[in-house]
Amino acid sequence: MVYEYCVIGGGIVGLATARALLQARPGASVVVIEKEPELGRHQTGHNSGVIHSGIYYAPGSLKAKLCREGAARTKEFCQAHDIPYENRGKMIVATRAEEVPRLEALFARAGENGIRAELIDGAEVTVREPEITGLTGIVVPDAAIVSYRRVLDALAQEITDQGAEIRYNAEPRAITETGDHVGVVLGGESLRARHLIGCAGLQSDRLARLAGMRIKHRIVPFRGEYYRLHARRNSVVNAMIYPVPEPGLPFLGVHLTPMIDGSVSVGPNAMLGFAREGYPKFSLSPRDMGEMLTFPGFWLSMARNIRPGLAELSNSLFKQRYLAACQRYCPALTLEDLTPMTPGIRAQAVGATGEMLHDFLFLQSPRMLHVCNAPSPAATSALPIGDMIAAKLLEAGKARGA
Ligand SMILES: Cc1cc2nc3c(=O)[nH]c(=O)nc-3n(C[C@H](O)[C@H](O)[C@H](O)COP(=O)(O)OP(=O)(O)OC[C@H]3O[C@@H](n4cnc5c(N)ncnc54)[C@H](O)[C@@H]3O)c2cc1C
Repeated sequence: MVYEYCVIGGGIVGLATARALLQARPGASVVVIEKEPELGRHQTGHNSGVIHSGIYYAPGSLKAKLCREGAARTKEFCQAHDIPYENRGKMIVATRAEEVPRLEALFARAGENGIRAELIDGAEVTVREPEITGLTGIVVPDAAIVSYRRVLDALAQEITDQGAEIRYNAEPRAITETGDHVGVVLGGESLRARHLIGCAGLQSDRLARLAGMRIKHRIVPFRGEYYRLHARRNSVVNAMIYPVPEPGLPFLGVHLTPMIDGSVSVGPNAMLGFAREGYPKFSLSPRDMGEMLTFPGFWLSMARNIRPGLAELSNSLFKQRYLAACQRYCPALTLEDLTPMTPGIRAQAVGATGEMLHDFLFLQSPRMLHVCNAPSPAATSALPIGDMIAAKLLEAGKARGA
């Protein structure tokens, strides 16, 4: 049998893509290839659970567009599938004088991106969130929280109900694109599909190279280490509380996030990882390290980001430093409040000249499309990302006269 579509990677981007393809072409044969024995083992299952509203992203970027649209679509999807989400809103707080102009610039950006937001002074910060202090803040009322594992499970149910197959414990060993199909060798068997879509998250650059795509970037893993607050602190905040992000970096800073299960998480930091899929602290994969250290872009990126890199290292190694980062806006927190949680590991694409790629990146060949950079807010944006991919594949098919 020749499948119409083969999606590699059963994260939220892969499953949202499978769903969009089935909506665009009802009845099409779709197979999802997932290397793990279950869904949600990587980024989609280890994130902050925030439905971002899209305030941070460069106007006109794919992130700005797809996040805004994705936030609304994710909420609709949750309503349709009875998945709880809460519109807690978010407050971004400047705690140092030098952050105030950056916060004001973010407020201007919210306007450009069409996001509802309000600029408030320090007194109002504490009126709205009594445990939070700051010089000034931005309130973004539409940011929400959800469990992306629940969203992933609902997507899996929806696509399998429509006839899609999800194959677990399956990983391509070879991929060959020909004029009329893509061949995929999987362990002992092989399959063919008219189109292949790579949605492999932390392994996306390897998958693209295996498939013969010429790419210049590499994925560099950034650990996002979290703590959970002691249950007595479950009401410490109502909204999500964020610091002003470091300029130039695609990470948002250690934040306080009420989770949909009623607990509150602190984090994530953004610590360089030495293993793409090694979750315990100090995990090291010789293969991942070897590839990273021989990639010139890695060294150029490290050189550019030495100061924030060292700050992240110190707050990863010393709980007291991590706490200090949170106490800048929530002084009441103590060391006893923080219990380590399983981290997440971000797939961050870094270019050959050391730049961290900020926007989503898709690369296409006649019969393949590879998602090459889908960091946060890709969970929020997954539904419109899927639609965009489906539209690109249909367009490519039309151009071939298919
Ligand atoms: C710490 C952290 C916090 C975040 N917080 C948020 C947030 O609050 N809101 C938000 O919108 N986004 C957030 N994100 C980003 C978001 O989680 C990711 O952008 C999104 O989950 C990416 O989905 P994905 O499907 O591309 O990747 P993944 O979820 O990583 O899925 C990729 C899948 O591909 C499979 N795979 C890989 N290689 C192969 C292969 N060769 N063969 C078969 N299968 C393969 C993997 O096993 C995996 O299941 C966060 C990310 C992290 C790490």
